[in-house]
Amino acid sequence: MQNTNGIHHITAIAGDPQENLDFYVGVLGMRLVKRSVNQDVPDTYHLFFADGQGHPGTDLTFFPWPALPPVRRGAGQWDEVALGVQPGALDYWQPRLASAGVRCGDLETRFGERVLPFEDPHGMRLALIEAAEYSTFDFTPWPDGPVPVEQQIRTLAGVRLVERDDAATVRFLAEGLGFRRGDTEAGWTRYVVGDGAAGQRVDLRIEPHASRGQWGVGAVHHVAWRATDTDQQLQVQQAIAGVGGRPTAVIDRFWFKSIYVTEPGGALFEVATDGPGFSVDEDPDHLGEALVLPSWLEPARADIEAQLPVLRMPTLARNG
Ligand code: ZN
Repeated sequence: MQNTNGIHHITAIAGDPQENLDFYVGVLGMRLVKRSVNQDVPDTYHLFFADGQGHPGTDLTFFPWPALPPVRRGAGQWDEVALGVQPGALDYWQPRLASAGVRCGDLETRFGERVLPFEDPHGMRLALIEAAEYSTFDFTPWPDGPVPVEQQIRTLAGVRLVERDDAATVRFLAEGLGFRRGDTEAGWTRYVVGDGAAGQRVDLRIEPHASRGQWGVGAVHHVAWRATDTDQQLQVQQAIAGVGGRPTAVIDRFWFKSIYVTEPGGALFEVATDGPGFSVDEDPDHLGEALVLPSWLEPARADIEAQLPVLRMPTLARNG
């Protein structure tokens, strides 16, 4: 059974929105493909960074909530997000991140792949991984970006999750979403869907005495998994209910349809359809340039715009 095809998008909590934009566009070279508001907290931004066309599987999104305390890492919480680049690309990225003042860890090898861990300006844990195998996800480079096309981030490769006890979470992953158990290395067990390529992985670690994690600046808010269409999404919804989960009804996010569920250990999952995509309400050549609001918020546009801080696009300088 394969109930999901891989990662659809990952949403995290950032601090200042301008610093967030400067880092993900100006340093990591991802394209701002949508500038919107949090649909539940419409006086705050929701910023979407992805490949050149905003394909599912490439999309990292942020709620900039600088008033929150820093993340408290712990059990039941998503942790480090891995970003996939081509083999050899870390030779480009290591000096680029250093010259941007990014705090990086040492180069590591994990499951046979070279990995460079680092943190974003708000303490979110990230890693660039040189992935030899990509799932069949589409990737379109962003030719106007500050990073040369060959070195650009191609996919969200995987994500880490810490739990106190794995039994219920593993059953949820397997029976609800169709994950299979892979190898274990250095205390992390890899769970995969599809071919287990970059974009189809969760690395799970059991820490029985870990305290419960708490959302804050630098935390991953949720991880969304791909369903090709609403039929597949409804199957997953049923499978999740079959393992005792309580998925929400389908919510229309305009760019995709979503259901949400909290797994037994506490981490928030979403299952999102591939379509219709980010060009449903904007010209693909001008994604992310204007503030896009859901229709029910349009009457309040003037008030919303007045409350949001003005954002400037960073200067896009290449250094290699
Ligand atoms: Zn989401």
